Amino acid sequence: MSAFTFPIGTHTPPQHAQALPDKVDVVIIGGGVIGVCAALFLRRHGQSVFVCEKGRMAGEQSSRNWGWIRQQGRDPDELPIMMEANRLWQDLNAQLDCDIGLRQGGIVYFSDSDSELERYETFTTLAAEHGLQSNLKSRSQVQAMIPDLNRSYRGALHTPSDMRAEPWVAVPALARLAAAEGVLIRENCAVRRLDNKNGQISGVITEHGHVACEQVLLCGGAWSSLFLQGHGVRIPQLSVRATVVKTSELPEVFAGGAVDSKLAFRHRADGGYSLATSSTHDLFLGWDGMRYAKSFWPAVKNDPLNNRINPFGPPNYPDSWTVKRSWSADDETPFERTRILNPAPSRKAMRIIKKSFDRAFPQFKGWSVSGAWAGLIDTMPDVVPIIDSCSDIPGLTIATGMSGHGFGIGPGVGRVVADMMSGKQSNHMLHRFRYDRFKNGDPIILGPAL
Ligand SMILES: Cc1cc2nc3c(=O)[nH]c(=O)nc-3n(C[C@H](O)[C@H](O)[C@H](O)COP(=O)(O)OP(=O)(O)OC[C@H]3O[C@@H](n4cnc5c(N)ncnc54)[C@H](O)[C@@H]3O)c2cc1C
Repeated sequence: MSAFTFPIGTHTPPQHAQALPDKVDVVIIGGGVIGVCAALFLRRHGQSVFVCEKGRMAGEQSSRNWGWIRQQGRDPDELPIMMEANRLWQDLNAQLDCDIGLRQGGIVYFSDSDSELERYETFTTLAAEHGLQSNLKSRSQVQAMIPDLNRSYRGALHTPSDMRAEPWVAVPALARLAAAEGVLIRENCAVRRLDNKNGQISGVITEHGHVACEQVLLCGGAWSSLFLQGHGVRIPQLSVRATVVKTSELPEVFAGGAVDSKLAFRHRADGGYSLATSSTHDLFLGWDGMRYAKSFWPAVKNDPLNNRINPFGPPNYPDSWTVKRSWSADDETPFERTRILNPAPSRKAMRIIKKSFDRAFPQFKGWSVSGAWAGLIDTMPDVVPIIDSCSDIPGLTIATGMSGHGFGIGPGVGRVVADMMSGKQSNHMLHRFRYDRFKNGDPIILGPAL
């Protein structure tokens, strides 16, 4: 299998090198889809905003994902935000300076299991309550939808208005839009610590110096928990490695995203497919893995075969055994040491993907793997994010733990956060995403993993 250089890496020259401002209204830690969308909507609310990204904008999960913009199968409390995100993607698409590959091709989940199909049926009722069309398909309807698929399923869940986009194009384009509207962005700029005065946020200390502000948004993806630990704040966030395989150019058999118990596929704008397996995620244990094992037990029990636990992770992972967990403002931090977390793809996952794709589409015999990459997915024990102000650090808002589905919902979360930080009443129910739900020992109500 050929070597693959991911488009966004430390070899990519920085696109944003704004000088450090003395003072802004809001500093955002993390230039993934959440940070970029929040920055844009905060700016549109009239706030001055500085985004600090330790590596490259969208260099981590936000460029490595499958590119699914999915309302289907969402947690009931996420669904209204996701439906808004769907609309926002279409609005924003018209404002961007390039084609991000946004297509409304639908998303489909195939299944042979009665209990899963029952779960899908329950979702169609929820969807209908929100005015979203999501349908159960019969065996023959599935065959008619993707006639080239060499497999038959008992049924499927299908949401025709779901979309796809090319994440490594889309998020950098959103960042350029934000910059054009006045958001200040600096890459290669890790935030080392928060600065507090009388218990209230007064700024951040970056590797390049101090920036004063009254509010900070932390959306550091897989690094958020480590960042907060430096301030004595604990959130039960763990990360799992997910692998994606890229094929050579092949005919499009379905315009959207599709998944069964083993294989996920979607056609890309460049003519190949992004393939993944829904059945293999790798958790690399570290101190947080041990500390939060109990909180994650319901999620692991619910899906016992999908998580492979490895006792040792690479030293640059955010929860490796050896990662530095405390530092002063003058020290180099783990954030600077790993500008872009670029996990090696799992060979085992690549084998499963290749075998499953061969079985599903034997007519593509001779197709080749033109690349593979992996990303660390940050997740919370109940598989829904934290979107809330942090009661332990006044002035800090947290939007993290997107739990494997943050790309699609990014614009929705960004808008919600911008309202929250501008003192506006939200039009969504946000109780489910509260920061203190894990601190208070509230029961863990599992959201759907996919
Ligand atoms: C293989 C894979 C497939 C996926 N498929 C989908 C999908 O199809 N649809 C979907 O909706 N979601 C999908 N996801 C999930 C989605 O990509 C993530 O939920 C989403 O990108 C998270 O965005 P984020 O902004 O929270 O985090 P990230 O994109 O991880 O961004 C966080 C950023 O913060 C920066 N940072 C961290 N600490 C600091 C610091 N101290 N100072 C400065 N910068 C810092 C990091 O460098 C990083 O760039 C997938 C994820 C993976 C890995």
